[in-house]
Amino acid sequence: MSGLFNGILRSYIRIVRRTTAKELWKRYAVGLAVLLILVVVSHFAALSALNSARSHAHVVVASIGQRPVVQRIMFLSSMAVSERTSALNDQLKVLIQNLKGTHEKLSRDPGNTPALKQLYVSGRHGPALDPIMKNFIADATIVATAHGAAEREAAFARMQTVGPETLPRVFDEAAELYRSADSSYADQVGTVQSAAFVAALLVLFLEALFIFTPSQLVARQALHRLETQSGRLRRVRDNLLVRKKQLQGLRQSAEYETYHDGLTGLANRRSVEPEIARRCEMATDSQFDIAAINIGLDRFKGINDTLGHAAGDYILTHVAKVLRHVTGPQDFLARTGGDEFVIVRDTDGDRSALDVLAAQLIERISQPISYHGELCHIGASVGIDTRRRREIVSGFDPACLLANAGIALYRAKELGRGRVEFFYQDLRVQIQRSKALSDEISLAVYREEFFPVYQTQVDARSGKLAGVEALARWQHPIKGELSPGVFLPTAECLGVVSKIDHIILNKALDDFAKWERMGLHVPQISVNVSSDRLRDADFIASLDKLDLPEGRLAFEILETVFTDNADDDLLQTLSRLKSKGIDIEVDDFGTGHASLIGLLSLGPTRLKIDREFVKPLPDSKPHVSLLKSIIEIASSLNIGVTAEGVETAAQRDALIALGSDRLQGFFFSRPITSEELIAKLKSEMPVREHITAA
Ligand code: C2E
Ligand code: CA
Ligand code: CA
Repeated sequence: MSGLFNGILRSYIRIVRRTTAKELWKRYAVGLAVLLILVVVSHFAALSALNSARSHAHVVVASIGQRPVVQRIMFLSSMAVSERTSALNDQLKVLIQNLKGTHEKLSRDPGNTPALKQLYVSGRHGPALDPIMKNFIADATIVATAHGAAEREAAFARMQTVGPETLPRVFDEAAELYRSADSSYADQVGTVQSAAFVAALLVLFLEALFIFTPSQLVARQALHRLETQSGRLRRVRDNLLVRKKQLQGLRQSAEYETYHDGLTGLANRRSVEPEIARRCEMATDSQFDIAAINIGLDRFKGINDTLGHAAGDYILTHVAKVLRHVTGPQDFLARTGGDEFVIVRDTDGDRSALDVLAAQLIERISQPISYHGELCHIGASVGIDTRRRREIVSGFDPACLLANAGIALYRAKELGRGRVEFFYQDLRVQIQRSKALSDEISLAVYREEFFPVYQTQVDARSGKLAGVEALARWQHPIKGELSPGVFLPTAECLGVVSKIDHIILNKALDDFAKWERMGLHVPQISVNVSSDRLRDADFIASLDKLDLPEGRLAFEILETVFTDNADDDLLQTLSRLKSKGIDIEVDDFGTGHASLIGLLSLGPTRLKIDREFVKPLPDSKPHVSLLKSIIEIASSLNIGVTAEGVETAAQRDALIALGSDRLQGFFFSRPITSEELIAKLKSEMPVREHITAA
């Protein structure tokens, strides 16, 4: 028994669990239909009972009314037997007519109970009512109409045998039968209504079992799903926030390393230009001048070579102390090279104060320094450049101030060391050289002397070729092949980088098509795109002519482009590129201080981690943690990560362990020409394919 119950319960639970929202609708419809039918049935049952009760009431009234009529006929007949008056006879005739009419009606339709029919037609417990009534009416008619007294008496005598007893009794019985027929109707209606009531209860119970319970379950499941989803979202958000905090912390420590010199604790070269720029922005005082003081140590190389690096480090730390000592809290100090330092100072335009400071520096640094009992003699030369506020406001380049101070230092050393030189216009020879370079570059753009070389990118998991990056080179007619470091800064000043990009993209696409024709498969080609190029109308138009399958072409865009110029036009260009199936890669990621989350929300295809972050691997813990966080967040958003500048197997292994999915660097290949790449690809091809390709 309990086994059966358990079985039913199990199947019920199964049904409830499997119920879908659609199924519930069906059940609702069926339940409603059944309830509707029940209401209609019970309504019509009650209505029909009411109708028959109403018609019975007429019959009962008529039947009961016969009894006094018979009695009255008996009374009048008893009078009419002895004495005939026309008034009496008329009265009697009317009553007889009444009795007869009602009886005929009743005997035609004595109600639909068999007992009543029996009473009228065949008699129930004695003779039938119908013949008795007919005889009685006939006799009463004789009494009312016959002229002979004997005839009337005989008729009245017959009437007396039934009139006083038999007929009233039969009428009573008939009334009783009518009443019981009514109550049996009422019983039937009651039964129908009770059945409808029970059926309705049953339907409600089934609804509770198969509609309300499952719907509650379905609703609860939906609620649960929603809760789980929102919980998951909350966790992802919390996770991102935690990661963001970690990143901020790690970034700060990595930033400290990036912007400081580990040995002396001073700032490093990287931080000088931003510092100059910052001071210029804050300069509201018209008296304000800014000075870059470049200090170069004399004879330092000799100490390093003879007494070793430890001695060199000691000297450098000592010089840093001297600098701290002779400068004030407003001065900015940096070590900008092996034996070079820079002071950035706000001045009031008084050169002599700078002269005094320089002289002090030279004097203090030139004091002999004792190192492990050895006296070391070094010296210092100083180059200074200053800028007036007026010049600072109109498009001033911090790099120029620094470069000019460097030129002045060079001049000071040239003139015999241990002295201070201010930058002056005649020292612009350097700049003129750069002017010559500008002219050459303009001509080179016109002659299309720029061409791409290719550096391979490999898939971290399989080690297979994942793509190549096109890098610009300049085939200089005299100096030979030149790297971007030589021509890009000047090209930027000239505003021709966009043109160089255009040349490189076209030549790279030609090479790519050629490899394809030769059956050499290069999965993807990445081309660098400058900020200027991105905004070039010609570039946007040229995109429409491109017809490469999705994912075969990638554009590398510097991280700084997103942080410095992320406006609507740029975003529109990006989405245009994406819609053309071109991958977007964020180049030199980590150098531009973009908010990681903000940058990722632009939906790039991949990040290219700058080689400055790869260089300290695998030993630097802060860099390992930083990269781990970046890669985790990027891959959680389905954004790929390429690590650049991989030079050693240890770096490769560390990056694979951190989850970087693509690697690029001298460890795999230096940038090579298209011909060299073709030879490399052919040599790496499986033999069979090689033969086919040949
Ligand atoms: P990038 O886009 O970050 O390119 C990678 C640079 O790192 C290349 O220098 C490459 O030779 C170098 N590199 C690759 N692997 C290693 C490695 O393991 N160790 C080291 N130390 N360096 C490695 P390259 O070719 O001199 O290019 C320098 C930069 O010039 C490029 O940096 C890119 O920003 C720019 N550039 C190059 N070609 C173009 C171009 O066609 N258009 C634009 N707008 N910029 C270009
Ligand atoms: Ca690049
Ligand atoms: Ca890069």
